Amino acid sequence: MQRQSVIVIGAGLSGLACARIIQRAGHYAHLYEASDAVGGRVRTDYMDGFLLDRGFQVLFPAYPAVQTELDLNALRLHSFLPGALIHLQDKLYLVADPSRAPSTLLATAFAPIFTLKDRFLVLRLKSQVKKLSVENLFQQPDKTTEQFLKEYGFTNAFINHFIRPFYGSIFLETRLHTSVRMFAFVFKMLAESQATLPENGMGAIAQQIASSLAANSLHLNSPVAALWKERDRVKGIILENGEHIEADKVVLATEFHQAAKLAGLHLPATWRSATTVYFALPQALYPEKAVVLFPGVGRLVTSAALVSNIAPSYAPPRQHLLACNIVGDPAMEDEELVQRAKQELAAAFPYADTGSWRHLRTYRIRHAQFAQPPGIWELLPSAQTPYSGLILAGEITVSSSIHGALVSGRRAAELALETTDLPV
Ligand SMILES: Cc1cc2nc3c(=O)[nH]c(=O)nc-3n(C[C@H](O)[C@H](O)[C@H](O)COP(=O)(O)OP(=O)(O)OC[C@H]3O[C@@H](n4cnc5c(N)ncnc54)[C@H](O)[C@@H]3O)c2cc1C
Repeated sequence: MQRQSVIVIGAGLSGLACARIIQRAGHYAHLYEASDAVGGRVRTDYMDGFLLDRGFQVLFPAYPAVQTELDLNALRLHSFLPGALIHLQDKLYLVADPSRAPSTLLATAFAPIFTLKDRFLVLRLKSQVKKLSVENLFQQPDKTTEQFLKEYGFTNAFINHFIRPFYGSIFLETRLHTSVRMFAFVFKMLAESQATLPENGMGAIAQQIASSLAANSLHLNSPVAALWKERDRVKGIILENGEHIEADKVVLATEFHQAAKLAGLHLPATWRSATTVYFALPQALYPEKAVVLFPGVGRLVTSAALVSNIAPSYAPPRQHLLACNIVGDPAMEDEELVQRAKQELAAAFPYADTGSWRHLRTYRIRHAQFAQPPGIWELLPSAQTPYSGLILAGEITVSSSIHGALVSGRRAAELALETTDLPV
């Protein structure tokens, strides 16, 4: 009895999920990862007792793929408040979903962010997206998020003061030119769950999958230089050290531009960048487990989060961790970024002693997410490639999210197993 051997290139969430599914089906799957650890874009660094996610990000437990691929209890998730603090005209307003955070009812009612009409429309939209499956949402007529929100009747104040900085921090662009399908998907995830952080950092998600891989099947510090091709058939990989490794199937689970380069595929996407500046604070800046939004033009920081309010494990005892999030990768020296972030936060929290803040690290993630404008969904590649023996995984085949990466891993694994000629 001979078993199928599959090589997976890239140990981000898509590659990890793919390799584990193939292994669980009883086949050999070996993962080759260029860097020194698993996780790809979902990694956490440890520094002086702080957990620093490589770019601020969150996990929605309502992601369908997360429910099938992860043990959420073992991740010990800490939830954000379903709402936000908004810094507007020199004041901070707390807005939240009063049905899930009843103590915020009064504050939310008096915040000049939503009109009664906006509140009604939020409830209506919530009920509409809850009735649709994720697959259905991605089949709705496509347009920009901004166009949809205006047509739906939301006020400009609501769009500019809440949606733009909140969803802008998720889409990594504040013009809201991202497809309404992605907006509806995230809106549904937020309606059905709260944003969370794992106790041991976002990197724990990848660690959890990696910990159940077969022994010796993960090869770190092993960049793949090229596919080993024979006419239109891919028969294996060539590592940067020149080693040739043969396999029945190769799954490409790298970022899309690397996949395009390795396979010579045309993948129609562009990148969005993100920057996160982390500070250690001797005192908590505010008590809520919430993000702070900074609406308006001319600001550098779009949102910030006192991460240790949400998950105290992110900071050592008696210290606090602040993440300042910037859309894009500004053409500014790190020191200038740090000073600007402090100034903008000080405007919202005038009592804060920013002089006592210690800059920990700045992450500039150039290749953070692929842009998802209207019409992109029809152009995304499927797992099937023109080459026999080569399968495509990675968020680029589904959507730029943890959910998308995990779904892509499963689809690639199922295709590899489907096209297996050999019995298990
Ligand atoms: C700052 C930021 C914020 C985000 N916010 C959220 C969020 O809040 N919620 C959410 O759901 N999603 C978020 N995302 C998106 C999410 O993290 C990604 O969609 C997902 O992690 C992509 O996984 P992947 O496996 O497709 O790719 P990757 O994680 O990029 O994995 C690709 C792997 O391939 C490896 N590789 C590349 N080339 C080679 C080679 N030649 N040989 C071997 N290995 C190679 C890379 O080193 C990497 O490990 C965010 C992303 C970033 C960066």
